[in-house]
Amino acid sequence: MSKALPTRSENYSEWYNELVKRADLAETSAVRGCMVIKPYGYSIWEKMQRALDDMFKETGHQNAYFPLFIPKSYLSKEASHVEGFAKECAVVTHYRLKNDPNGGGVIVDPEAKLEEELIVRPTSETVIWSTYKNWIQSYRDLPLLINQWANVVRWEMRTRLFLRTTEFLWQEGHTAHSTSAEAVAETKQMLEIYAQFAEEWMALPVVKGVKTANERFAGAVDTYCIEALMQDGKALQAGTSHFLGQNFANAFDVKFQDKEGKLEYVWGTSWGVSTRLMGALIMAHSDDSGLVLPPKLAPIQVVIVPIYKNEEQLTQISEKVSEITKQLRKKGISVKFDNNDAYKPGYKFAEYELKGVPVRLAMGARDLENNTVEVARRDTKTKETVSLDGIVDQISALLDNIQESIYNKALAFREENTYKVDTFEEFNKVLDTKGGFILAHWDGTSETEEKIKEETKATIRCVPLNSVEEEGVCIYTGKPSSRRVVFARAY
Ligand code: AMP
Repeated sequence: MSKALPTRSENYSEWYNELVKRADLAETSAVRGCMVIKPYGYSIWEKMQRALDDMFKETGHQNAYFPLFIPKSYLSKEASHVEGFAKECAVVTHYRLKNDPNGGGVIVDPEAKLEEELIVRPTSETVIWSTYKNWIQSYRDLPLLINQWANVVRWEMRTRLFLRTTEFLWQEGHTAHSTSAEAVAETKQMLEIYAQFAEEWMALPVVKGVKTANERFAGAVDTYCIEALMQDGKALQAGTSHFLGQNFANAFDVKFQDKEGKLEYVWGTSWGVSTRLMGALIMAHSDDSGLVLPPKLAPIQVVIVPIYKNEEQLTQISEKVSEITKQLRKKGISVKFDNNDAYKPGYKFAEYELKGVPVRLAMGARDLENNTVEVARRDTKTKETVSLDGIVDQISALLDNIQESIYNKALAFREENTYKVDTFEEFNKVLDTKGGFILAHWDGTSETEEKIKEETKATIRCVPLNSVEEEGVCIYTGKPSSRRVVFARAY
């Protein structure tokens, strides 16, 4: 076995990086900021995709695919959009290489310069709205509810596996509507879907809210988000849903004829979650022994390890196990029987702990005699020996129980680490000693928000949707405020 993981309290950041690598989730690549997602990591992402995709389809969305390259002129059509993304764009200028006549190896062929540069999509609003112009003529063409699963590139300066990469995988929904109210409802519906996915599948409690103008998506009228708290007290924006107003319809001249025959600009939304969710999953639940995966997203939900002294015992155990695996699979539970002879049980136990397999069964000769099996749960690391009678129902219930406990633990953590503060002094103290979500009054100006960020590195994560009106004064300027917002240092 390789040496132990760094612990979270020793060095949270190192713990995360090492865990991602050792649990075989992803690794860095030759290109800075781009990652290789390994099969185990990818299979978790696939489970996320499947669940989300089902939810999108249930709410009437269809998948489509748009090009990777966007003409530079498209990106420039919506002024604030291009301003927001300009600093992070990868630009294609040439389409051919050639051998250097001066012996310098392969060089870019200067004669193969593109007439118009192409941007590798950082997000697809522009290319999609330029297409919608052809697809939408009348109110009968609306709503248009489309999602795309794709990769995007944002030239990030400070990157970290999953949480912030230069190229990442995501889905981006782009919808078009005939009224503002309908588009707003769509924006909120998708936020609810993200929150539901985070809570029910990832076992991750989230705060739903609206971003301030400073943190709003470039080109949006309003950005809604879900924010989660990681174990080191830092926040992570886990998903966004944007109400685009008529901004992109204006930019790309997308109009529809309403029922009265009048021409109107179309209303839009866009919404996305990315492979950052993998980072959120890891950071929210895992411990110093490795990953802790919620059963609903675990590629292997149950692993069975035989403990044997000879071939004969292994054969007997295998027979017994095959009955159990058959029944578990019938219930839709994914099971692995690890009879690999090259490794000892102790090694396997540590490996599955590292990989976050929710339930481990171990069966030895004595279990065979007693009709029992040892059941260990990853989240609490507790184990007990139980009878094989009714084992399948028991495991099924145990998986549900683990899913719920992981959520409750994360929720309790968030509650313990959410603080109401009323002075800037207190604000700084909490930030420096504890971190977490800080509920404080703010005067509503970007200027104050900027100053607080400069001085403390904390940002307003969101104005929570469930915040209540409450008379107060801004912690920084003392000006009146009518509700608390959520501050935190964030990834
Ligand atoms: P946005 O289009 O900026 O609203 O982002 C859509 C989703 O992608 C959000 O859920 C972000 O958390 C996520 N995201 C943004 N930038 C990155 C990045 N560099 N790496 C991974 N995920 C990202």
